Amino acid sequence: MRPDILNPLFTPTDTLEGVGPKLAKPLNKLGLNRLRDVAYHLPERFVTRRAVANLDDAGAGEQVVIALVPTEHQASRGRGPYRVLAQDDAGNICALTYFGRASYSARKLLPVGEKRWVAGRIDQYGQMLQIVHPDHVVAEGGDTLRRLCEPVYRLAEGLTQPKLASLVAQTLEKLPSLPEWIAPSLLDRMQWPAWSDALELAHRGEHAAARDRLAYDELLANSLALLLVRADNRRKKGRSLAGDGRLRDRVELPFPLTGAQTRSIGEIEADLAQEAPMLRLLQGDVGAGKTVVALAAMLIAAEAGAQAALLAPTEILARQHFETLRRMTAPTGVQIALLTGRDKGRSREGTLLGLMDGSIDIVIGTHAIFQDNVNYRDLGLVVIDEQHRFGVSQRLALSGKGRRTPHTLAMTATPIPRTLTLAQYGEMDVSRLDELPPGRQAIDTRVVALDRMDSVVAGVGRHIAGGQQAYWVCPMVHDDETSEMAAAEARYAALREIFGADVVMVHGQMKSEDKDAAMECFAAGEAKLLVATTVIEVGVDVPSATLMVIEQAERFGLAQLHQLRGRVGRGAEKSTCLLLRGDMLSETARDRLTLMRETQDGFLLAEEDLRLRGGGELLGTRQSGDTPFNVATLEQIQRLLPVAHDDARMLLDRAEAEGADGKPGAALAGERGDAARTLLYLFERDFGVRTLRGG
Ligand code: ADP
Ligand code: MG
Repeated sequence: MRPDILNPLFTPTDTLEGVGPKLAKPLNKLGLNRLRDVAYHLPERFVTRRAVANLDDAGAGEQVVIALVPTEHQASRGRGPYRVLAQDDAGNICALTYFGRASYSARKLLPVGEKRWVAGRIDQYGQMLQIVHPDHVVAEGGDTLRRLCEPVYRLAEGLTQPKLASLVAQTLEKLPSLPEWIAPSLLDRMQWPAWSDALELAHRGEHAAARDRLAYDELLANSLALLLVRADNRRKKGRSLAGDGRLRDRVELPFPLTGAQTRSIGEIEADLAQEAPMLRLLQGDVGAGKTVVALAAMLIAAEAGAQAALLAPTEILARQHFETLRRMTAPTGVQIALLTGRDKGRSREGTLLGLMDGSIDIVIGTHAIFQDNVNYRDLGLVVIDEQHRFGVSQRLALSGKGRRTPHTLAMTATPIPRTLTLAQYGEMDVSRLDELPPGRQAIDTRVVALDRMDSVVAGVGRHIAGGQQAYWVCPMVHDDETSEMAAAEARYAALREIFGADVVMVHGQMKSEDKDAAMECFAAGEAKLLVATTVIEVGVDVPSATLMVIEQAERFGLAQLHQLRGRVGRGAEKSTCLLLRGDMLSETARDRLTLMRETQDGFLLAEEDLRLRGGGELLGTRQSGDTPFNVATLEQIQRLLPVAHDDARMLLDRAEAEGADGKPGAALAGERGDAARTLLYLFERDFGVRTLRGG
């Protein structure tokens, strides 16, 4: 149960003054549902304004405060803007421009002939200067405005900066006083403010120490939760799965295992033989051969008489795994089934029955395999493929399926830098496939300007005329699936004009049947060119495809480009990757593409990705979803996470030493322990706390 002391922070935002139904949508969109969310909605940046007496002194784009006298109101007909012309002391004119509903307030705020202090950004508008939607218009108090260093928050439509600022101000007034969870020595050394002071300061100005402290809190909460899960897991009752090799011996692998594969399988086998449930991450670059490692693990489970489930992130991938594994295990007699959200009716019933009565040994599917109505006779092992986006609480939910806690093997091809591995998978042991299967050739990677499209298309033509296959990846458009689809459809239509039935397409919005049909057609070699969005990013394996074109490659992150490129270079033939770039390249984008050309080392690319993104960032910009953090930036994660992790371990070690009876509830005892517990709830890492309580 959440400590009462946190209640004020978890009251809904609509209890604040001035929040009506109209704000519900934007607040929800920003995730500002409770006061804690508002408190942690930190400014993206701050504006500091310059006071100018004369418009001539203000440059376009500059934030200013200036005294103006309105001379004329110009309402436009239809949907045009509402303009108020105003002049400075020297008689220079500028326009104060309002769109939509805001124009009503302009009428009242700017009476003709009366001096007003106006704060906002000066823009050039044709021959004239203008301020669009001034931030402030006041009759008195120009001095206050001048001194103002104002936060700029991320907004959603229907919410304004002043409105949000008022919600923040109200929230800050209501902050409870919380016990300190950071060790006094660390607070001292870092010169960090107390929690509530840190929030105040972070909203008021660019206060690095305050920001760091808040980020540290989040990192500490995460590390603590992961370590608690880990400790709890060691105490859990699972079951030992010891294989006798009888199934593995009969598998027909078309290749010898690499040393890294053999080593990883050995590590997994040792874990499975333990009673404590395995929590292991198999980390291996694209094409390193994780699938056969998963297969070996699942066969060990089957040899021991238990069932295994393999969870794939997409339907395409589930199907592909199913086909591959069925082929390899054909001589063993192991029963493998496929279960996805699409399976309905009789075949689904059959699979569900088979899982319940134990006649199915291995099931492969999407999240459908973990729905409530799916029951296993004896689930001993869960394998999660390519699930770097999965959070810990979801991984825990999956492990709740067996009678006893099943063993878990998570696999990821995202070569996450070490620091992030700790943040994402801190509760797991790690096996690394740090060796690619032999005979892989370097992928010839080239950066090509987009305006050479014609010759690229001609090159693709020669490639497929020679009997080889190719991918064509269309860009993401603002993370928006609909426009992504539109881009893919358009490219598909154009290429289809040229190459006819040789071209097929997959994108996220297609019906799964159509996706599968296209994939099968491509995998079977009937189609030569696959136009796709990033849905092919993970796991798709068609070794005979040797050319990849990535359109507007500058829009992708390094890790993602690496994943995409990993779809080729899987067979014996030499492969090529063409990165088509637009001409509006930022410096970072240019660096990224150069790096792609120069290296194929996934771990290096991941480190660089982190560095490039970490560097040029505004303070506190929300991270791009690939970290489990909302407050901590990439840079802060790198700098502070190791400290937080050590600190968390110390807290728990001490707790374990003191709670000599070994009871889980004994962890996190004492004053600092209580404070740490509060912290876990504050950051909603209470899955960590649950392991404390339940025991
Ligand atoms: P990933 O780690 O990206 O999931 P896969 O398991 O899909 O990689 O394997 C990539 C390709 O390499 C597949 O075509 C697979 O058959 C092949 N492969 C895997 N292990 C070996 C090996 N030891 N020797 C040769 N080829 C292998
Ligand atoms: Mg894979």
